[in-house]
Amino acid sequence: MSRITSLNGNLNGKLMKEAVNINQLLDGFQLEIISQTILEWWNSSGRRNFPWRETHDPFKVMIAEILLHRTRAEQVVPLYQVFIKKYSDVHAIARSSPDELEESFRSAGLHWRWKLLHAMSIDIETRFNGQIPHDFEDLTSLLGVSHYIASAVRCFAFGYPDVLLDTNTVRVSGRIFGLPITDSSRRSILFRKVIQRLMDAEQCSDFNFALIDFAAKVCRLKKPHHDECPICESCVFYQKIAGVNKNTKINTTPLKEIRRSHQQQLSHMEAL
Ligand code: SF4
Repeated sequence: MSRITSLNGNLNGKLMKEAVNINQLLDGFQLEIISQTILEWWNSSGRRNFPWRETHDPFKVMIAEILLHRTRAEQVVPLYQVFIKKYSDVHAIARSSPDELEESFRSAGLHWRWKLLHAMSIDIETRFNGQIPHDFEDLTSLLGVSHYIASAVRCFAFGYPDVLLDTNTVRVSGRIFGLPITDSSRRSILFRKVIQRLMDAEQCSDFNFALIDFAAKVCRLKKPHHDECPICESCVFYQKIAGVNKNTKINTTPLKEIRRSHQQQLSHMEAL
């Protein structure tokens, strides 16, 4: 057997093991029902009509995601609306004077972001002919574009079923599936794969918006609204605190069994 064949064999074995572990980890959860329930909740009571959610224009989506970074959406709305009216594309930003750009941001208290947008726009103009790229590597090669922003642009503008991993989506998925949450979970392959499995790829934008809103309005960091939660009966965290372990409608695997399975899987998965 050649070295390459041997390496491929090992890799395939590892990937196979990984797939089995993810399957075992999620065994007993009816993912499609959980996913559809979150989407139904979003359609009836979670949808928030932010202006950047009404467009698939890559430029507008990118601007929104840059502005939204660590900033409350309500604070971003007025700045976004004024900014998009003034600057219609990357070229307009690249050719504007720094003073003019800085002025646009001054009132919103987002001082450093005008510099970022200016440098990024020049880069996009130079390397991508002024078009926002859709390739993940190209996007993350741009100054200030994190994995989260790249995935958001790919999903909301181009329709790729990319997972958005941040403290909020990690919190929701960690609670539902009983996964331990650590500081590094936002970069965890395990969480990315779990949410990927939960996502309805045909409705990836809606699913990601739904998960963001669900985290903000129901499964909140402090005082989550378990009593209003449509998926509480499939949630390990809720079952644990409520002592519920029978007559579940969605999750048919006993809690004890889920926990035991998790304990066996987690050490391996976190190492991936
Ligand atoms: S039951 Fe509570 S912890 Fe579980 S998903 Fe709903 S709000 Fe979050």
